[in-house]
Order: sequence, then structure tokens, then C-alpha cells
Amino acid sequence: MPQVMDKEVKQGVQQDEPIVKYENICKSFGDLEVLKGIDLDIMPGEKVALIGPSGSGKTTIIRMLMTLEEPTSGNIIVNGKNLWKMNKNDHLVRANDKHLRQIRGDIGMVFQHFNLFPHMTILENCTTALIHVKKMEKKEAEERSMKMLEKVGLGDKFDAYPSQLSGGQKQRVAMARALVMRPQVMLFDEVTSALDPELVGEVLEVIRDIAKDGEMAMILVTHEMDFAQEIADRVVFLDNGVIAEEGTPEEVLEKSNNERLQSFLHRFR
Ligand code: ADP
Repeated sequence: MPQVMDKEVKQGVQQDEPIVKYENICKSFGDLEVLKGIDLDIMPGEKVALIGPSGSGKTTIIRMLMTLEEPTSGNIIVNGKNLWKMNKNDHLVRANDKHLRQIRGDIGMVFQHFNLFPHMTILENCTTALIHVKKMEKKEAEERSMKMLEKVGLGDKFDAYPSQLSGGQKQRVAMARALVMRPQVMLFDEVTSALDPELVGEVLEVIRDIAKDGEMAMILVTHEMDFAQEIADRVVFLDNGVIAEEGTPEEVLEKSNNERLQSFLHRFR
């Protein structure tokens, strides 16, 4: 599989400051307290694997970064800009719309169920946000998208519709669609868990290539422990609403004595 990312100098990214900062994030759904004070910094270019039992709040953490969920309390800062913050009266205040659009432009997300637009061709799926959000000329958007589709090995499918593709191909289109926006942070939410086992490899291969590029930070929610071990700089284990363990893949996946983590990992080995 060829290299996936175009090299691009990122404007305004402080290399020694976190690109994403979660500060004391709490989140409840009704009576259910899902996150109980999460502090997490992601550095530019850092690859972080988020692991933990089902229902431990991994997806909620990354959905909050896309502003698809609001925290109950706490701050999230992306590239120095607040998505939300607590005011003096302890009320959560959301960034204004212009600010939010800028922040969202820094972040790309790939979902478990692809979420492609079914009525658009593969190429249109990739160009639509470039044209309508980034206001790029159609021709330039198409050129950039075709390059990305070729890089994920789907250049010949540009005029097909999502229903004509396999799950693995759909997921590669979803990645190309996110990558053409050249985000500084990519979020992967269990992107292989809806795939037939024989299609998992081709999708992991694309992520591997993106990771190699080095410039883009990545947060991966995954149950693929070997893969996490291979590509993550840091593994974060979420349990009972808190970060119960974090460190290098070796520290967390091989050397930790945390019993809850041990029993969680046992299910995958
Ligand atoms: P994970 O990704 O670790 O499996 P999630 O973040 O998806 O966990 O969910 C954490 C918990 O929050 C689960 O118990 C889930 O049912 C609950 N939850 C998630 N989203 C909602 C929602 N929109 N409304 C109510 N409960 C939710």
C-alpha cells in the first residue's frame, strides 16, 4: 500500500504544546456517570491508543472532540483554542460557531460504520467538504481527492457508489474523505470492528501508512491489541470512568500489574 499523507507544513501548530488537551472532563448521561475526571494531553504527531472495556466511555471521549457530545463539566482545548470551558459560575460555555468551525477543521474522524453519503459517488464523498466547507474549487478538490483515493488503493473506484464496495473499501474511502481535509488530529473509532475478519488487514495497512507520515496526531479506539502495540506511542486504559493506566505500549500491554487491565487484556490474548 502506498504512502497515504501528502506532506504539508502545518500552520500555527506549537510542537511543544499539546494539540489536544482534556482537562478534568466529566460526562454523565442521566444518572449514568461515564467519565469521572479525565485529564489527557495529546502532543502533535502523537499516536495514542485508547483501550478499555465496552461502555467505559472511549467513544464518548472522541465524540466530544468532534463536538458530537458535550461534557458535563471540564475543558477541552484543541490547538490552544477552547471547545468548551467552565465560566466563573461553573457553567459550561461553548465556543462560538466561527471558532468551532475552525477547531473542527483541525480534526478528522473515521467511524465504525463508515458513514459515507450513499447517494454520492466515492469521489463526491471526498470532495463535498472540500468544496462546501473549505470553499475549494471543484477541479482542485477533485485532483486532491483522486490522489488520496489512489493512495488508499481505490483510484479505479472513483465513480462507484458506496453500495458497490466491500466494507474494507468503504472504510478506506472514509479515511480518504477525512484525510483530504488535512486534519492535525485523526480519530479512529473502532474502525475495523464492523468488518469481516478478512477485510481488517487492508484497513489497518492504511492506518499504518498514515501513522508513518508522523505529522498527524492520532487517537485510536481499538480492540486490536497487537496493532495498538505496533503503532501507538502511548496506550491509555480507561476503566470505571478514569484513566486507570497509561504509558508506552510495553508498559501498559506487557508490564502492568493492574489487575483490571490484566483481566481486560486476557480476553484478547
Ligand atoms: P465505549 O466506547 O467505551 O464502549 P461509550 O462511550 O460508547 O463506551 O459509552 C459509554 C457509556 O455511555 C455506555 O454505557 C453507553 O451506553 C452510554 N452512552 C453513550 N452515549 C449515550 C447517549 N447518547 N445517551 C445515553 N447513554 C449513552
